[in-house]
Amino acid sequence: MGELRVLELYSGIGGMHYALQESDIPSQVVAAIDINTTANLIYKHNFPDTPLWNKTIEGISLDDFNKLSFDMILMSPPCQPFTRIGLQGDITDPRTKSFLYILDLLPRLSRLPRFILLENVKGFETSSARERLVKTLTECGYEFQEIMVSPPSVGIPNSRLRYFLIAKISTGQLSTQTSLKILDAFPHAAKSDSAEKPKVLSPTCQCTSKPEEEMQSGGVLYKLETRTESQRKIDQNSDLSVREIQDFLEPQTEVNMEHYLLPPKTLLRYGLLLDIVKPKCRRSVCFTKGYGRYVEGTGSVLQSSVETEVESVFMGLDQCSEEEKLQRLSKLKLRYFTPREVANLMGFPQSFSFPEQISTIQRYRVLGNSLNVLVVSRLLQLLVS
Ligand code: SAH
Repeated sequence: MGELRVLELYSGIGGMHYALQESDIPSQVVAAIDINTTANLIYKHNFPDTPLWNKTIEGISLDDFNKLSFDMILMSPPCQPFTRIGLQGDITDPRTKSFLYILDLLPRLSRLPRFILLENVKGFETSSARERLVKTLTECGYEFQEIMVSPPSVGIPNSRLRYFLIAKISTGQLSTQTSLKILDAFPHAAKSDSAEKPKVLSPTCQCTSKPEEEMQSGGVLYKLETRTESQRKIDQNSDLSVREIQDFLEPQTEVNMEHYLLPPKTLLRYGLLLDIVKPKCRRSVCFTKGYGRYVEGTGSVLQSSVETEVESVFMGLDQCSEEEKLQRLSKLKLRYFTPREVANLMGFPQSFSFPEQISTIQRYRVLGNSLNVLVVSRLLQLLVS
């Protein structure tokens, strides 16, 4: 196969481009398109030779797309219309307009691309946008597969469950049938280094909270956690096919701790809502674009002092005075993951970097909008194989 000409739509900071590089598929990104000027600065910084169009997709003509003569489309359309908190405007949301434009354009291209990969949030699978996508692909003669996967399936200790669709133009002969069943794991045929998941039966990781028997029975455990949540964490930390958080941390000498420590106000106000992980954990929650600004549900924080047991800090904390609470919580030295560490957990290679002028908050924001590079790379290998 010669070098594939790839069109990267909604390119952001180039997660798809990195996935393509990681997949080792001979390829060239012939155009990347995005309207976010911050993301574009970062993209340009890392891929100075890739043509980057700072334009709205729906403003680009069929003629201009035809001139690019591409073999593959990689795209992550805006996800807000499909998320639970995004009010689920679906195809009526103005942010879906550009995606509908692409669907309208596809059958009219002078040459259909051989491959398409789309990424979106959980929720997209039940949308009308997805229905229209499937209809268009079928009419154009594509075979496709939908998959919902999260980074632990490629050995990364970070949750980011996403919807993916990979489509290949049908060759007409001996084609594999399109299955409308959405897979929840990579098919076994996929090239994989961690296909076998050695599970340990009992939680041996020092990272987990107290052994389960010691926990209060029923209802809410310490730190507003239910038994089910606690068990899920124990299970995740016991999955030896997933690497430890510490493999993704920057050398501690390079982290300006003061800059990343959670401020006292945040500790006092949100202490009970934090998702705390230790370097030896094999899990963390999804980093969203509000990381570093909002606490609840935006991503895990790191317990950088592991001498203190997190349980001893939280037991009876509600009966403590503010001063004592703060004193206890401070012992854990809770800090945010640095943007570099978030990038590591999202599978970005060391060669990825930010231009100096991009602030920490902006870095978290663009990373939160991006994707897990290793997951997409695995999907690309599947698609092209
Ligand atoms: N995959 C990307 C992120 C995609 S997020 C990454 O790795 O970073 C969706 C992106 O779509 C955002 O960067 C947003 O600026 C861009 N976008 C949204 N609507 C657009 C439109 N109409 N035309 C071009 N880009 C658009």
